[in-house]
Amino acid sequence: MLGQMMSQPLLISSLLVHAERHHGDREIVSRRVEGDIHRYTYRELASRARRLANALAGLGLSASQRVGTLAWNGYRHMELYYGASGSGLVLHTLNPRLHPDQLVWIADNAGDQVLCFDLTFLPLVEATAKRFSTIKHFVLMADRDHMPAETGIPNLLCYEDLLEGASEDYDWPQFDENTASSLCYTSGTTGNPKGVLYSHRSTVLHSYGAAVPDALNLSSRDAVLPVVPMFHVNAWGIPYSACLVGAKLVFPGPALDGKSLHDLFEAEGVTVAAGVPTVWQGLLAHVEASGGKFTSMRRTVIGGSACPPAMLRAFEEDYDVTVLHAWGMTEMSPLGTVSTLTGTQLDLSPEEILAVKNTQGRAIYGVDMKIIDEAGAELPWDGKASGELLVRGPWVLDSYYNREGDGPLRFDSAGLGWFPTGDVATISPEGFMHITDRTKDVIKSGGEWISSIDIENIAMGHPAIAMAACIAIPHPKWDERPLLVVMLKPGMEASKDEILGYFDGKVAKWWLPDDVAFVSDIPLGATGKMQKNKLREDFDGYELPTA
Ligand code: ADP
Repeated sequence: MLGQMMSQPLLISSLLVHAERHHGDREIVSRRVEGDIHRYTYRELASRARRLANALAGLGLSASQRVGTLAWNGYRHMELYYGASGSGLVLHTLNPRLHPDQLVWIADNAGDQVLCFDLTFLPLVEATAKRFSTIKHFVLMADRDHMPAETGIPNLLCYEDLLEGASEDYDWPQFDENTASSLCYTSGTTGNPKGVLYSHRSTVLHSYGAAVPDALNLSSRDAVLPVVPMFHVNAWGIPYSACLVGAKLVFPGPALDGKSLHDLFEAEGVTVAAGVPTVWQGLLAHVEASGGKFTSMRRTVIGGSACPPAMLRAFEEDYDVTVLHAWGMTEMSPLGTVSTLTGTQLDLSPEEILAVKNTQGRAIYGVDMKIIDEAGAELPWDGKASGELLVRGPWVLDSYYNREGDGPLRFDSAGLGWFPTGDVATISPEGFMHITDRTKDVIKSGGEWISSIDIENIAMGHPAIAMAACIAIPHPKWDERPLLVVMLKPGMEASKDEILGYFDGKVAKWWLPDDVAFVSDIPLGATGKMQKNKLREDFDGYELPTA
C-alpha cells in the first residue's frame, strides 16, 4: 500500500519560490567586483532569476545543457544558481584559481555551452576563449558601462542586457527530482579533476540536512556570510539552505582579506560565517592587530581542512564565537559531519569541550559512515582504532560524471555501495569522527602510522608559526619519518630546537619530526588547502639528519 500524500518533486526552484513568497523582504547584500555594495531582496532575486531563465532559453539552450560560471560570491552568481538549475539546465561552477589548461580541460569535459564570468576574469577568458571547444556564448556578468570597448572574445554578451531584454514571466518547470542540477569538479590533486554531478533531489535534501540545529543551525534570524566560494562545492550548500530558511545573505565578492571581511561582518550584522582555516587565519590576524571584536557573529563554520586547535581556542575563548568544525567533500555535497555537543556533553569542562570540537564531529542525518582496516573489515568505534573512512547517503556521489572505467564505490556483503573518502579516521563511542590523515598523506614509520594533521595542529599552536605542513621523507631504517615544513609569521623567529622542544609532552617521542625545514611560503591549492603533494616534490631527495 502506498502512502496517500502529495507527490511533489524536490526541485531547486521550490527553494526560491518559498523564499520569494515567505521571506520576500529579506536582504541579499553583495560586495561587487565593481567595488560598491549592492543590496536587494529575495523578491528581486526571484524576479531576476526568472528573467535569466528566459534569457538562457533565448540563447537556444535545452534541458540539461551546462552553463559554466567563473565568478565570486555575489547576487548575479546566485541568480545563475537558480535561473540555470531551476529551468532544467545544469549549473557548472568553475574554480578560477585553477591553471588555465585545467579550466579548458574541465569546461570541455563538462561540455559547457555558455560561460558566464565576473569582470575580474575578463583577462583570463580573453586568453583562453578560443581554446574552449564547446562554449558558444560568453557572458560578462556586468552592465553595459563595464563592457570592454574591444575584446578578443567572440560574441561577448552583456549579462544585464540579457536580463533587460527578457520577460519576467516564467513558470518554473516541474520534472523528475533526480534530474541533474549542478556540476562541480574536485580540485584534482592527483590526476585530472573529476566531475561530481548533483541532482535536484540530492541538493534539496542536503539543504535540509545542512540547516538543522545540530548541523549549521540556520534560521531566518541569521545573516549568513559564506566566505567559502560558490565555485567550491556550492559554497557548502549555503545559497540553497539560506532560501530554505529565509536567512539574510551577505556575499563578500572578491575581497577576502581580513579587514574587508570584518568590515562586512560588522556593517551587515553577520551572525554566521563559513570558510576554510586559511581564510580565518587572515581574519583573526586582522582583528587581533586592530583590537577589533565580533559584535554580531555567533558561529563560524570551519572546514575543508582541519581547524587548528589554536584557531578554535581563539574564536571560542578570545571572541566568544562558537566554532562549528565541519567535515565533508565535493563528493558529499559537501556536508558529512559537524562537531556539535550532545546533551550529555553540556557539563564537560571547557578543556573537554575544546577536545570534542577538535574532532570533525558527528554524522548528520543523511550520512552514514564507517571505518575499515586494510582488509576491508569494519573497525570498532573506540576512539583509538583508525582506518579508512567510508560514507553513504542520498547526497553522496554514486559515480563520476563523464568518466571511463569502474566507479569508486566499494560494495559490502549486503550489496550496499560505500564511497571511500580517502581519509583516515577514528570514531569515538559517542560517534565523533576524527580525521588523522588522508590516505596519501599518512606517514608510515616502522609499520605504524603517524598523523601528519596532529603534528601540524600542534606546530600551528606555536606563537611564531604561521603555517606548518608535515610530510613523509623516506628513511633507511623506519621506511618513512616526518619532516616538519614551517612558514614563520612575518618578523618572528624560532629555531629548529625551539620548535621541536614545543612538542615536548604533546606527542609520543617517536612522533617527533626528525627535522624542521623553514620556507618562505607553503603552496596553497585552488581551494585554499596546503598542497602537500607539491611540498613532497620540493623536498624530493631530502636527507634527514637521522638517516
Ligand atoms: P579536494 O581535496 O579535492 O579539494 P574537497 O574540497 O572535496 O576536495 O576536500 C575534501 C577533503 O578535505 C576531505 O576528504 C578531507 O581530507 C579534507 N577535509 C575537509 N574538511 C576537513 C576537516 N574539517 N578536517 C580535516 N580534513 C578535512
